[in-house]
Amino acid sequence: MAAMSTPRQLLAHLRNLMARGLAPLAEIARLVASELPAEVCSIYAMKPGDVLELVATCGLREEAVGRTRLRVGEGIVGLAAATLHPMNLADAPNHPEFAFRPETGEEKYVSMLAVPVRRAGRTLGVLAVQDSKSHRYETDEVEALETVAMLLVEPLTAAGATEGGEEERGATLSRRFSGPVLVPGLTIGPAVLATAHVPRRLFADDPAAEQERLMAAVEAMRRGIDELITNRMPADVKSGPETREILEAYRLVAADPGWLRRVGEAITGGLSAEAAVHRVVDELRDHMRRIAEPYLRERVADLEDMAGRLLAALGGNGQPEAVPEGAILIARRLGPAELLHWHDRGIGGVVVEEASAASHATILARALALPVIGGARGLLDEAEAGDEVILDAEETQRSGSLGQVILRPEADVTAGYQRALEARRQRQAGWAALRNRPAASRDGTSVTLMLNVGLPLELAQLAATGASGIGLFRTEIAMLARGAIADVGEQTSVYARVLDAAAGRPVLFRTLDLGGDKLLPGSPPSAEENPAMGWRSLRIGLDRPALLRRQLRALLLAAAGRELSVMFPMVATVAEFCTARALLVAEAERVRPRPERLHVGTMLEVPALLWQLPALLQMADFVSVGTNDLLQFLFAADRGSPLLADRYDVLAPAMLGLLGELAAKARAAGVPLSVCGEAASRPLEAIAMVAAGITTLSMPASSILPVKAALAATDLAALRSLMKELQGSGGTEASLREPIAAWAREHGVPA
Ligand code: PEP
Ligand code: MG
Repeated sequence: MAAMSTPRQLLAHLRNLMARGLAPLAEIARLVASELPAEVCSIYAMKPGDVLELVATCGLREEAVGRTRLRVGEGIVGLAAATLHPMNLADAPNHPEFAFRPETGEEKYVSMLAVPVRRAGRTLGVLAVQDSKSHRYETDEVEALETVAMLLVEPLTAAGATEGGEEERGATLSRRFSGPVLVPGLTIGPAVLATAHVPRRLFADDPAAEQERLMAAVEAMRRGIDELITNRMPADVKSGPETREILEAYRLVAADPGWLRRVGEAITGGLSAEAAVHRVVDELRDHMRRIAEPYLRERVADLEDMAGRLLAALGGNGQPEAVPEGAILIARRLGPAELLHWHDRGIGGVVVEEASAASHATILARALALPVIGGARGLLDEAEAGDEVILDAEETQRSGSLGQVILRPEADVTAGYQRALEARRQRQAGWAALRNRPAASRDGTSVTLMLNVGLPLELAQLAATGASGIGLFRTEIAMLARGAIADVGEQTSVYARVLDAAAGRPVLFRTLDLGGDKLLPGSPPSAEENPAMGWRSLRIGLDRPALLRRQLRALLLAAAGRELSVMFPMVATVAEFCTARALLVAEAERVRPRPERLHVGTMLEVPALLWQLPALLQMADFVSVGTNDLLQFLFAADRGSPLLADRYDVLAPAMLGLLGELAAKARAAGVPLSVCGEAASRPLEAIAMVAAGITTLSMPASSILPVKAALAATDLAALRSLMKELQGSGGTEASLREPIAAWAREHGVPA
């Protein structure tokens, strides 16, 4: 072993080495082995098929280079790659996962420290040191090796390393990726990639000067965020309190002294400001991704967004590069400010590898009407900037539908989609004329179309679509966007704004439907095996009545004497409904002025209620069918499972029979009935539901005009008799979709 120097000296020597240009891997290995307590330093690169290949070594046998290979997860090196964590062992050969490779001549080495080389949270390779004396490496030595690993990103990429999980690149071939539709839409455009920056300068001679650069960049970043919020956001989006809240929360993260202090410490250790930001964000990202709580995991995107902005500010210009109009942004993760920034540059759609419907960026994208597909893993690695991309996030299938991203599509595929887009534009122009016409079938049955909304910023859609009111206001969405339950005063002002915007049109407020996949920060992750069937929604409200009562009070105060409709989600028994209703009535006794009229209704999402209809229809002032949950409980099929997304259909004989019977009984009892599940937003399902007797449908804004157009072309009497015939024929089909769709095509119904 050579005379050892301190980790700081190692970094200083590396800096000198790097100053001469891209250093050969073998030279870096030699330097590390000579400056750390190590006889061996080896560098492994990730190769296609998730294999780590020894590409340089100082200390192992030279002939092993290019030959020694380990799968991710195999051996200590493979474990460091799989866990994205350093493996620091005083007695590596006795570790249960140790994989001995005789060609390396490593039998005499005992201690081992292996650290992953990461790029944007994926493994690009592994850097390992070994020693024949048994010892664990000190913290500063581990940190020094991690810093060297950062430095290896470029040379490893140059040496042909790929990121873990990546397959062989086929840059000219068309590729298809699928993922959940987070915001529906269809668009074609060139790809722009939101790739992580790799710092070019890792070390700095003058830590004080770097600290100053950091502080100036933090200030510039904050000014940039303020500017973005103040001047760059569309007025209708900006005026939404949730948008403001998201950005306020984000601003707080930007100013959080915790992570900035850690960046400062890394600078004191000799890193450049850019490298220090990278280092701290890498650590935090790893930490946050291990947290089971989905909300916190989502915040990784906010943090990376911030780091990206800080790095741009450190780069000095921060000017957005030009982006072709209508480009499709491909990102691994995306934070809210980043999304706004790209929107400002004119993107037309987004694909995010790691995102959920509840992420801040998704919520904003929905408000900005930017189509988004999530989960298309591997796309970012495959795509090159400028590649043509088709983003097909059309929700033509059942709820939880998967969208498709086609990278470098074949010419005839593009032509097909271009035709679809053109037809859509024409359809939309035709729909616009329908805005002010009442919804009705061709043979004169009038239908009430209402909106599903969750954020006050969506209220502008009432006027834009000509909807008759709000058939479902999901109160939990605003809370999820805000990240906490608002107090009574705040809730009151949100609900009052909703009622003001509705200007006398009905609004059905649904009480908090939290739990399942809708978790607030701070709430422990569910320990239940089936959270969708667990302690969620009204069950929480009834067990924690103070929470529910506060919300009911806020709704009553917001009404300020106006008519008020409140409905409860996930009601499984009439008894639960009665208890909830009694809480509302008791609260109403205390509030002045009392609402002019108070309507208390229920969602019908749990099949058990169907066998209590006489009592339910006596107690409830209205019923709204939540087909998303009803379908999942009726068919015992998780609504979030992509494997089951197409398996069970709302147009199945069982579901259509159930809806028909329910409609007849509700009509006989004089109780208003509506459907507010996603199925009502699809024209074919909508006309079938109306034919089944349900004449009030509630849906997202984008569906109102297409559903109105389909209805206007539907001879309801004819469709009804077709459905009767199909249902009465005693057939064994899983779904009646095909014959109903064929009928619609034949009769020119745009469904
Ligand atoms: C439903 O279950 O159909 C519904 C409208 O509620 P959510 O989608 O919010 O669970
Ligand atoms: Mg539901």
